[in-house]
Amino acid sequence: MNQMQNLYREVIMDHYSHPRNKGLTGNGKQNHLRNPSCGDDITIELEIKDGKVNHVHHDGHGCSICCSSASVMSEVLTGKTIEEAKEIIHSYFQMIKGEEIQNEDILEEALVYQGVAQFPARTKCATIAWKAAEDLLGDQHEEK
Ligand code: ZN
Repeated sequence: MNQMQNLYREVIMDHYSHPRNKGLTGNGKQNHLRNPSCGDDITIELEIKDGKVNHVHHDGHGCSICCSSASVMSEVLTGKTIEEAKEIIHSYFQMIKGEEIQNEDILEEALVYQGVAQFPARTKCATIAWKAAEDLLGDQHEEK
């Protein structure tokens, strides 16, 4: 394992052990998704205000990849506009699929999941929280 992978692993384990923005507030729209093959069960709550992602909360349980990525996502998406958040999520999905992405800077800390592309069995774990957020943002757009 090289140094970079080590660092990525540490970030993932830190978010798993100390999840940020965990616990639902009831102040936003919620989306609940499950990944039966791994036992991941997660709810994402988005609070949108003035066209921006004001707060992201998550709750549930699952593997380290799933739970940590919900925590990382909650930090990365907070404060972004709806369009920015959609672009970040889109790039994240490309990265997980192992596709080349042009604007990897926008992924911020979520870049630590780039290694998941080498483990197809874990891609669902890494994307479930992001899929839940994408659905919520999609709803948001239609209401405009
Ligand atoms: Zn999982």
